[in-house]
Amino acid sequence: MTTFTPKAIVHKRFGSSACYKVEEVHESTQNGCPGLAIMQKGPCLYRCTLQLPEVTVVSGIFKKKKDAEQSAAELAIEKLGINPTTKSPSLPEAWDVLVDRVSFLFSDEFLSTLHPLSGHFRAALQREGDLSGQIPASVVAIFDATLCNMCKSLDPKVESNPFLVIPYVVRAAARLSELISTSEEELWFRRQNPYAPETVDSSSIQQLGSTKTFSIEAINVPSSLEKTVERVILNVSSSGYFLDVITKQLGLLKASDVLISRPIGKASSETRLYFAAPKQYLLDMSSDLLNAKEACNSEGSLNARASYLSGQDIYGDAILASIGYTWRSKDLFYEDVTLQSYHRMVIGKTPGGIYKLSRGAILAAELPLAFTTNAKWKGYFPREMLCTFCRQHRLEPIFSTQSTLEESSESPKSHKKLKVTDLPVKEAQYANGCVVAAGVKDSVESGGSFRCEVKIVSKFQDFILECSPKDSFKKQSDSIQNVSLKVLLWLNAYFRDPTVPSERLNASADGLNIRFDPQNFIKVFMLCQHIHNVRRNETEEGKSVCSNSVNVSYALPGHEFRSLNIEGPDSGVTPSNGSLSSISYSVSLVTEGEHMKELLESSDDFEFEIASGAVIPHLEPVIMQMTVGQSAFFSVDLPHQELILAAADDSARMLSLLSSKTCFLEYTITLLRVTEPLEDRMEQALFSPPLSKQRVEYAVQSIKESCATTLVDFGCGSGSLLDSLLNYPTSLEKIAGVDISQKSLTRAAKILHSKLDASMSAINSAVLYDGSITAFDSRLSGFDIGTCLEVIEHMEEDQASEFGNVVLSLFRPRVLIVSTPNYEYNVILQKSNLSSQEDDPEDKNQAQSCKFRNHDHKFEWTREQFNCWATELAMRHNYSVEFSGVGGSGDTEPGFASQIAVFRRGPVRQEDVLPEVSDMEHPYKVIWEWSSNDSSRSALTN
Ligand code: SAH
Ligand code: MG
Repeated sequence: MTTFTPKAIVHKRFGSSACYKVEEVHESTQNGCPGLAIMQKGPCLYRCTLQLPEVTVVSGIFKKKKDAEQSAAELAIEKLGINPTTKSPSLPEAWDVLVDRVSFLFSDEFLSTLHPLSGHFRAALQREGDLSGQIPASVVAIFDATLCNMCKSLDPKVESNPFLVIPYVVRAAARLSELISTSEEELWFRRQNPYAPETVDSSSIQQLGSTKTFSIEAINVPSSLEKTVERVILNVSSSGYFLDVITKQLGLLKASDVLISRPIGKASSETRLYFAAPKQYLLDMSSDLLNAKEACNSEGSLNARASYLSGQDIYGDAILASIGYTWRSKDLFYEDVTLQSYHRMVIGKTPGGIYKLSRGAILAAELPLAFTTNAKWKGYFPREMLCTFCRQHRLEPIFSTQSTLEESSESPKSHKKLKVTDLPVKEAQYANGCVVAAGVKDSVESGGSFRCEVKIVSKFQDFILECSPKDSFKKQSDSIQNVSLKVLLWLNAYFRDPTVPSERLNASADGLNIRFDPQNFIKVFMLCQHIHNVRRNETEEGKSVCSNSVNVSYALPGHEFRSLNIEGPDSGVTPSNGSLSSISYSVSLVTEGEHMKELLESSDDFEFEIASGAVIPHLEPVIMQMTVGQSAFFSVDLPHQELILAAADDSARMLSLLSSKTCFLEYTITLLRVTEPLEDRMEQALFSPPLSKQRVEYAVQSIKESCATTLVDFGCGSGSLLDSLLNYPTSLEKIAGVDISQKSLTRAAKILHSKLDASMSAINSAVLYDGSITAFDSRLSGFDIGTCLEVIEHMEEDQASEFGNVVLSLFRPRVLIVSTPNYEYNVILQKSNLSSQEDDPEDKNQAQSCKFRNHDHKFEWTREQFNCWATELAMRHNYSVEFSGVGGSGDTEPGFASQIAVFRRGPVRQEDVLPEVSDMEHPYKVIWEWSSNDSSRSALTN
């Protein structure tokens, strides 16, 4: 359906009496925030005033003149209550237009045009004998979009059943009996008089004698779900009419008995379903038009697969073929439709399938669970996928973004409703100097200034669903991607198991801020139950433990590994949450016992974001155990057959293997590289010495000042602080580290072990514990100095407070040093040229749209937030606290990159009731222990 822009609608109604005035505005002066005056270098913003005879409206503020104009027009339409759909001409007029169009289609002039329909006319002239020049009514009805649109305006039902165009064309042709002869029983047309010879010549119709024949692959989609979808070969001759070949293949006698579906897949595609027109439908043709659809429904058995693919009712067996005439050439266009492409079309109707296809990784990729940044998102963007999904299911997504920033400024009307059709992806990014710069300030308090909702309606504007997340974003485009992904995830869960009980569907909708109309929803997606077989067991990810180079067989709940083996030397470079990892992989189908192996899918370089759920559930736990350069081999039970067939080149062979043997999938993976999170790159690139080194130096300075002999590192990770400390001469004798990550601790143990053995330091004891720093362990009580560097932001805020209380009331170190990122400093990181290191060159200014520096961060605090947390803690536990930091300067805005609080234990006061501390509390597990007296006593317990 051609939708008119608001401006077009206003023009129709008011013509030249509509007066648009566009003015430039400066956001900063608008919102009365003088501090932003310096930001005015950014692009200009526009506002439009539209004067109409009846009313004057003023638009919101836009980056583009034309958006401001459209918005003003839209406001005017709303205000005047103009219904954009009542633009259709009156009925008799519409009929005349329709008849004119049909008469044009049968003209000499049309025969020589480049048009998907004129090709059929030319080919029909080459049909032999009686058939020469006969053109099926269904062809005329399907291939002229202009005609279809005219019929739609006559009868909105045409939208859902395009075949209703046929009776209209038949009626129009009947009015043109001097031009067109028809056969109502057989539903074809022919011109009464032959075309002018020069028209036929110039139309370069193939002369007999130069006949070529070619074979194309097509797919037979039987209406019975018991029968399998199979390949068929169409032998088409250049001097014949291809529809005659398809007719024969369908077991029919006349091409006029064949109906043709809408194109499947891309709008420009020539892939369509061909099927027998139900008999009753044909018989009822001449009777009341309104009965036609009902008649159609009563005939034959619904072909669920074909109907699902095309989104229209298809009865009986159908042939899926990619053949036809185009706007580009007079030659017949054709392409093989393989079983693989059929299965790809089927999975391409689900959000997860669209994503897998966009990544070319059907057996490895999975629709990610979160949108972090543009740069880290691989494959189609959520918004793009949601639009594709909606187009395929004949739905319409309506996005509306709201700027909380603009709302708080003077104009209450300034939030924009943007229809997706008005907003190409590129423009959706919308960022401009003023808004974003102001947004940074704003988002410090509220998280961002753009919020987006999406509503999905049917072609008839029936409400299907709506998603209105509360999250707000600094960038408008991020808010759009976020809401799109939420809807996709919910829909994807439904497609995985369309039989899901409604309570569960409701519960998952609630969790994602989705509201839906159960009846309309089921109506739209009913058929998918027949197509996408039920897959259960896709429950939460399991935990896995595996030692290197040892074959282990174990089960993840819901994801059984048949075997897993990791090989290669430990390079020490591991993927971490939020980093981008690149792997090469191949997946083969292996038959049990016989070891027949068929390659299904492979990639030399497949990049994805760790911990975003972007790969199949098996893959991530394996990759998390690997280091760069290592390879892993594992086998798993088969996924759904539809995925295997969509991945395999030779679907027929796969089908025979799958049906006769027990098979499983074998994955071979090599971890190629890991791109570290912004935090790490920033620490190395932006600061000299690197920020981590500056933190260590800070700690060393404090150790020296306090003459500490004992140190505990809370959240020691891979031991970077403990390791670096050993490079400096200090008074330390005893060091300990605690962490909850076994993997990091193992790494720390290896490093410390070799370093301590070689070192001449005063340290005589070192221990690593596995435990949570929110729990007290008496073995670490009363140490001279405690460090907790860049750890608290990895815990939830309440856990961070819990840690603060436990450490100051129970561990009670003399000095405690806590560091955490300064959120306000992120503005500088975002402006830094680090973005150019991101992979997606298109996204330079988008690259850092992630809220935090590291995706494992649960929060990042402003200086004020950190101050509050630390001051309150210190007071409660009789410590003093001083603030400092590393990276940048404390004296200039926005402060240090890493903010540091140094707590010092106060003298015990009379009134202080220190809690009873038991010596027996040992919840931590010793992972590794080293002693200088007897270094051979040390043991790696893991
Ligand atoms: N302090 C180290 C590591 C920082 S990364 C350094 O500066 O390099 C944060 C670390 O905190 C991770 O190793 C993580 O496993 C650890 N961590 C997070 N929550 C924890 C908790 N509750 N108890 C102990 N360690 C924790
Ligand atoms: Mg951190």
